[in-house]
Amino acid sequence: MKYISTRNKELQISSMQAILQGIAPDGGLYVPESIPAAEISQEELLSYNYNQLTVRILSCLLPDLDPETLQRCVEEGYAGKFETPEPVCLSHADGKDFLELYHGPTCAFKDMALCLLPKLLGASAAATGIADRIVILTATSGDTGKAALEGFADVPGTGIVVFFPRDGVSEVQKLQMVTQKGKNVCVCAVEGNFDDAQTGVKKALTSQSPAGVSYSSANSINIGRLAPQVSYYFFAYKKLVEEGRISFGDPVDFSVPTGNFGDILAGWLAKKMGLPVGRLLCASNKNNVLTDFLRTGVYDRRREFWITSSPSMDILVSSNLERLLFYACGEDAQTVAGYMKDLTEQGFFMVSPRVLSEIRKDFDCAYAEDEEVDGAIRKVWEDASYLMDPHTAVAWVCAEKVFGGAPCVVLSTASPFKFAPAMLTALGKPGAKGLAALDELEELTGLSAPENLKALKEKEILHRSCVSPEEIEAFCRSAAGQFGKEESHD
Ligand SMILES: *Cc1c(COP(=O)(O)O)cnc(C)c1O
Repeated sequence: MKYISTRNKELQISSMQAILQGIAPDGGLYVPESIPAAEISQEELLSYNYNQLTVRILSCLLPDLDPETLQRCVEEGYAGKFETPEPVCLSHADGKDFLELYHGPTCAFKDMALCLLPKLLGASAAATGIADRIVILTATSGDTGKAALEGFADVPGTGIVVFFPRDGVSEVQKLQMVTQKGKNVCVCAVEGNFDDAQTGVKKALTSQSPAGVSYSSANSINIGRLAPQVSYYFFAYKKLVEEGRISFGDPVDFSVPTGNFGDILAGWLAKKMGLPVGRLLCASNKNNVLTDFLRTGVYDRRREFWITSSPSMDILVSSNLERLLFYACGEDAQTVAGYMKDLTEQGFFMVSPRVLSEIRKDFDCAYAEDEEVDGAIRKVWEDASYLMDPHTAVAWVCAEKVFGGAPCVVLSTASPFKFAPAMLTALGKPGAKGLAALDELEELTGLSAPENLKALKEKEILHRSCVSPEEIEAFCRSAAGQFGKEESHD
């Protein structure tokens, strides 16, 4: 199976090369030329633990990495990193199911893929004989940055540069990044929002890298990020069957808190691979560009950028939508290239009614204001003693709006303790800031904060750089060159 660029079907490469490159040279995203069917029977599904299921899914999507290699990547990538017996778990509260994806090292769902990506990259580099240092360039809305740093720190033959919006991440998210240790890591604030950072990084990725260096991406534009995320949709389904809550074959609806459209696209891939997914609800915060698009067919980023209590979803240019558009318009790369040109040059694009109705076959949409999010956090805590973080609460509010009381799986993407001040506000006890809010949230709820977050109190700040969006490309070149030099000294 080949991977092709969403903007040019002639650009064909293997899945390993797609992981190594991250983004296509024409700025398009790599997609499988046809989505493989997983063909997993009930018996087979029920027999797998999380790791086995992930290996099975990855071997469909990344077929040129052999199953033994994938098994090694998954076992080594996940071993000892999660607080729970399995990497993810399904909880029930207040009539809904919560797929908890935040029990990993950085307390957000990005760990599910970023624990594996360094292994997948390493295996791909070894198999294709690439001798270059692979330098990962990443823009983060808060959670990808730390998860990628954690995954790549001190991995031989790699380097990582992370850019975060200076005023657009939570205090805990920022501390997680600027205290990161490692000889091959570099963290830098950007004077701008996530979209500015992502645009700068995409530009740097397609620019000339220094000699001996290949750039790649740890954002969900990299197929190596997306593929491991397909697995937990299958896992949620398995749990529901196992617990006798559904029969094998029944459709299940999912509500997904969405920013860059990666997580929800993984759910759509699961559906196309054969999982009985019903509706996929694209849940947005006040930055509701996707809600408008899914209602009208017009994607218009020319609007105010809001800073909300769910900062990891404060995004107006959702990269992975491009992959969905590619399939929805009948794999017409030229049309996709046209949309993306319009978006860059005019700030909007419009799809035909036919393309929109194709998309609406699988997707619903809604958005939630911060006040609704706060109300939901408080209600579910009071009714069911279950604590949702603000991102999860966006998905909960949207599920209420669109599915009403009907059962669905809400993807729970971060630990509430990552956003402790916002949680305290929602629970009616505002005031505490930064790490002090962690203690207060523990006291108020009787729950314990994850150890990795509590440990931030003892850590030294190691990264203080800040650049304008225009300086990102040059900063990447200089950082990448630096990693190379250190190596030649030792
Ligand atoms: C990244 C993130 C999201 C959004 O996921 P996308 O794949 O960007 O749509 C939602 N919640 C949290 C906590 C995140 O970190």
